[in-house]
Amino acid sequence: MKDTIDRHAERVRPEFPLLKREFDGRPVVFLDNASTTPKPRSVIDAVVNVLERSTANVHRGVHSLGEEATRLFDEARREVASLIGATPNEIVLVRGTTEAINFVANGLELGPEDEVVFPASEHHANWIPWRVHGKPVPMPIDEDGVPRWETLASLITKKTKLVSIGHVSNVTGAIAPVEEVVRIAHEHGVPVLLDAAQSLSHLPLDVNKLGVDFLAASSHKAFGPSGVGLLWSKKDFLAKCPLYQVGGGMISLNNDIDVGGFIPRDAPFKFEAGTPAIEATIGFGAAVKWMRAIGMDAIREHDIAMSKYLFEGLSDIKGVRVLAKKLPVEKRIALATFVVDAPAMTQESVARALCDMFGVCVSAGFHCTHVLHARTHLPGTVRASPHLFNTTAEIDLLLEGVREIAG
Ligand code: PLP
Repeated sequence: MKDTIDRHAERVRPEFPLLKREFDGRPVVFLDNASTTPKPRSVIDAVVNVLERSTANVHRGVHSLGEEATRLFDEARREVASLIGATPNEIVLVRGTTEAINFVANGLELGPEDEVVFPASEHHANWIPWRVHGKPVPMPIDEDGVPRWETLASLITKKTKLVSIGHVSNVTGAIAPVEEVVRIAHEHGVPVLLDAAQSLSHLPLDVNKLGVDFLAASSHKAFGPSGVGLLWSKKDFLAKCPLYQVGGGMISLNNDIDVGGFIPRDAPFKFEAGTPAIEATIGFGAAVKWMRAIGMDAIREHDIAMSKYLFEGLSDIKGVRVLAKKLPVEKRIALATFVVDAPAMTQESVARALCDMFGVCVSAGFHCTHVLHARTHLPGTVRASPHLFNTTAEIDLLLEGVREIAG
């Protein structure tokens, strides 16, 4: 287990400049990948290269720089599409998972009685849009925050317009039974949205095999820059989905120009009004290329070994409650959320102490899942979320820190 983790980690570590940083002489131990990941050199270079050598607007300029920037941008869309088994024109480039889910919420034109079923453990990005656009129907969760998937069929009614699920929980690391959810939802004629924010960089994804109808994800949680993400949907939805932003770059013909008349271009361009996040998108493409060169299977191999190491280590510490620790490794990713029983300390101050005393960076608080925390009666939690570059020595340091604080 140790060998597998360290072999993968040591291979990629030199590519991450962030990991060379120190605080007060202590190397940074970055265990906050569920929030956002550090970027490998090839992603940084791709972004710097556009800024230094290929700055131009895309899909506009007829000069050589414009053509070059457009080529790099279009290539990035193709990379992103191929990572999830999609075609480029099915990918709408948005700001991230949040915007992608809002896009669908708006596009489905839900009325106040139209129901959307989703687990009560979901991130606010997959909860609040259903509050604003439709009627939320949260699926019950257990005492550890894991959805009770067996209740799904009973929650679907004639009014259900969508089942929307996180592929991987950003709190428990639990992997959703996507194919089973799709089977049940489709039996009732209901489409399924997959929030892949936490899975895009951890699991091999193929929209055709998964059978979902929508997929939302962010670049910044998958080794790419922030400010860009994707919404994937089948072409028939994109063809009839109403426009929610209009402006330059999305018009194919301006017929009644003096009264502002327009004919929108085909999807995805009709949804991408204005200048896009050019550098970030090209960086996203580079991140996808990087992950594919490593191989999603290799990433998963590290992840499974890391999951065992992390959960076993944390579960051994007295005064620490680890959420969903009984889930088998094949049903989770290496992401552990826990509560440290340290008198007079909040979970936020536990995380602060881990950073100040050990250089270990983890998240603390509610992780945008207030309902999960309320229903599991937790006044905040600490979350350690390693990724491919993390070593067993770094996990040992986390465990040493937690042991000292809990002791
Ligand atoms: N969904 C999940 C499961 C997440 O973990 C996050 C971010 O933490 C989001 C959605 C929102 O992603 P973004 O902030 O990139 O839009």
